[in-house]
Amino acid sequence: MEESNQQEPTPLGDLGEFGLIQHLTEKIDIKHKSSVLGIGDDAAIISAGKGQKVVSTDMLVEGVHFDLLYTPLKHLGYKAVVVNLSDIYAMNAIPEQITVSLALSNRYSVEALEELYEGIQLACEIYNVDLVGGDTTSSQAGLVISITAIGEQEESKIVRRSGARENDLICLSGDLGAAFAGLQILEREKSIFESNQKIQPDLSGKDYILERQLKPEARKDVIQYFDQENIIPTSMIDISDGLSSELIHLSKASGIGVQVYEDKIPIDPSTVTTCEELNLSPITAALNGGEDYELLFTVSLDHHDKIKKLDGIQIIGHVTDAAAGCQLVTRDEKMVELKAQGWSGV
Ligand code: ADP
Ligand code: MG
Repeated sequence: MEESNQQEPTPLGDLGEFGLIQHLTEKIDIKHKSSVLGIGDDAAIISAGKGQKVVSTDMLVEGVHFDLLYTPLKHLGYKAVVVNLSDIYAMNAIPEQITVSLALSNRYSVEALEELYEGIQLACEIYNVDLVGGDTTSSQAGLVISITAIGEQEESKIVRRSGARENDLICLSGDLGAAFAGLQILEREKSIFESNQKIQPDLSGKDYILERQLKPEARKDVIQYFDQENIIPTSMIDISDGLSSELIHLSKASGIGVQVYEDKIPIDPSTVTTCEELNLSPITAALNGGEDYELLFTVSLDHHDKIKKLDGIQIIGHVTDAAAGCQLVTRDEKMVELKAQGWSGV
C-alpha cells in the first residue's frame, strides 16, 4: 500500500468553512468570456449574452440518489455535473457555468472532498463549463449536492418539450437500460458483501453497464451535430426516468400521441445478458430503468436522411395524434399502451 493511503484523513474542522472553500476551489480557472466574475465575491457575474439563458438545477441526496458504499466520490462529482449539463443540452443549449452547493456532515474528510471536486473539475474541463460559485453548509446526516447549470442559445434554436407535431420522427441517441442494469449488479454485490465481507465482488464483463451507472456522459456531441447539420428538433427531453416516462412527457407537453417499435429500441448486448442473468426483462429496463442521459427528440420528416446517416442515432417511431395515446408496438406486433412506470413486458 502507498504511504498516502495510510495517512489519517484531515477533519473538515481543521480548515473551517472559508478555508475549505478556498482549498477546494483555488485551482479553478475561468474559460468563458460570459463568466465575468467567478468564486470569491457575494455573487458571480455572468454577462447577459446575445441569446437566452437556460437554467436548470438538480439535487442529489445520499441514500436516495447515491450509495457511497459503491460510488467513488470522484465519479459522484463527475455524475452530479453531467446530469445537470444533460438538462441544458436537452434544450439544445450550450452550458457555460455551474454552481455547486454542498451540505456535509463532519464524517467527511478534506481528502474525501478533494476527490469529489476532482470529479467536478474533470467534468468542467471535458464539457467546457466554468464553476463560478456555490454554497457550503453542514448537514446532520449524509451528503447533499445541488448543482445549477446555466447555458445559452439563440432564441430560435431553443428546443422545448412542447413542439412535436403529427408525423414527426421520434429519435433516440445511444442505447437504453444499461445504467439500470449496472445499478442492479452493484446492489446485488452490496447485499452479498453485507452478508459475507470475505466475498470479493464479481464484476467481470460488466464494465460498460457499471460505467453507464457510475460515470454517465451527457450528449454534447449530438447537440454539436444538430448545429453542424442545421437541424432543430421540434421537441426534446433527456432520459433520466426511462423512455416510457419521457415519451409521455413529450406527448403531454406537445398534445400529441406517439408510436414506438420495440425492435427499434437500442439495448447493448451486455445489458441484455445482465438482465437475463438477473431475471429481468431488457425491454422493461429500457422503458422504465432511467439514468440513461440519452436524448429523445422529434424532427420533421424532412430531416429523415440526415438523421438516418448518423451513427448512434436511432429512429424508434413517429408522432401520432393525441387520441391515439402512447403506444409500443411489440416484436409480435401487439400494441401496448406505455405507462410512466411499471410496464412489465409481455
Ligand atoms: P456567502 O456567505 O456570501 O454565502 P460564502 O462564504 O458561502 O459566501 O461563499 C464565498 C464564495 O465561495 C462565493 O463566491 C461562493 O459562490 C463560493 N462558494 C461557496 N461554496 C462553494 C462550493 N461548494 N463550491 C464552489 N464555490 C463555492
Ligand atoms: Mg454561502
